[in-house]
Amino acid sequence: GKLGIALVGLGGYASGQLAPALQQTEHCYLAGIVTGTPSKIPVWKEKYNIPDKNIYSYDNFDSIKDNPDIDIIYVVLPNSMHAEYTIRGFTAGKHVICEKPMALTVADCDKMIAAAKKAGKQLSIGYRLNFEPFNLEMARLGTNKVYGDIKKLTAGFGFLIGDPTQWRLKKDLAGGGPMQDLGIYCVQGICYTSGMVPVAVTAQEGPKTIPDKFTEVEQSLKWQFEMPNGLIAEGEASYGSPMNFLRAEAEKGTFELSPAYNYGRLRGKSPEGEMKFENINQQAKQMDGIALSMKNNQPSIVPGEMGRRDVKLITAVYEAMASGKKVKIK
Ligand code: NAD
Repeated sequence: GKLGIALVGLGGYASGQLAPALQQTEHCYLAGIVTGTPSKIPVWKEKYNIPDKNIYSYDNFDSIKDNPDIDIIYVVLPNSMHAEYTIRGFTAGKHVICEKPMALTVADCDKMIAAAKKAGKQLSIGYRLNFEPFNLEMARLGTNKVYGDIKKLTAGFGFLIGDPTQWRLKKDLAGGGPMQDLGIYCVQGICYTSGMVPVAVTAQEGPKTIPDKFTEVEQSLKWQFEMPNGLIAEGEASYGSPMNFLRAEAEKGTFELSPAYNYGRLRGKSPEGEMKFENINQQAKQMDGIALSMKNNQPSIVPGEMGRRDVKLITAVYEAMASGKKVKIK
């Protein structure tokens, strides 16, 4: 049977992407919701046929432990709340999918991983691109060295952010600016395309051209990861200007995606020409992939350990940006 998912936090991503995707999944379905906004309940009940017994508030959330309809808790809250709700999900004896970034500190990631172990349940991070054909092709071409060694690897993700009051611009809720929200995709892209994890980093904050929006977090930044083989991989993230690419220049040619990270149509090319892959529902593929690992008790493709690795890398980028010095990553 399908595993029952309860979405925790019914904001833009849960309502715009995850709930619709759960109408297309084979191995999981939308069984319940957890919300702090009672006015959302009638709409969700109506639209997705959710029974009252599967509707929770943040206050009675822990009693979800007694509900056999719910197998998986999917945490879709602001970044600073990921750790708490993930740990409460495990305490309730459920599997957990936690959105990216996994948490704001490595110490919190450790607590989340420990809670999963203690519960004997799986922790997965909401990394949709690890299930997406264009990005998987970048990983295949890079790690198999189809065009030889990568000589230059660059990744950038940015958009112009809107509402100046949103949580993404608040340090305590978001943990930082575009690095936490968008740069994480570049960090991931660099790791899966090279098949390596960086060993050191330098980073520079960009200018604040829209200063009233960026009183707490960076508007943009660039960073340079030193890879174990000496390759320098360059990343860039911005809330001030649009960019969306992942590019590998290898000995025998360049392979790249642009756009690389969107939900919709992606485009890629390699020395063979245009990449031809279907435009899939990324969230459906991701949640099915994760649910299948949970069902079969097999390791997750996007485990908590991967989320922790990325939080560690992001932390190092911020440390390098603040100090202006090269930071070693152990
Ligand atoms: P959003 O602002 O649209 O929704 C946030 C939800 O959290 C809202 O329902 C809000 O009511 C609730 N909330 C509870 N406490 C809050 C508080 N103190 N402040 C603000 N909101 C509070 O955000 P979103 O875009 O849905 O993002 C939610 C999470 O999902 C983030 O961690 C984000 O990084 C992640 N996300 C991932 C992807 C992806 O492609 N994997 C895409 C978008 C968002």
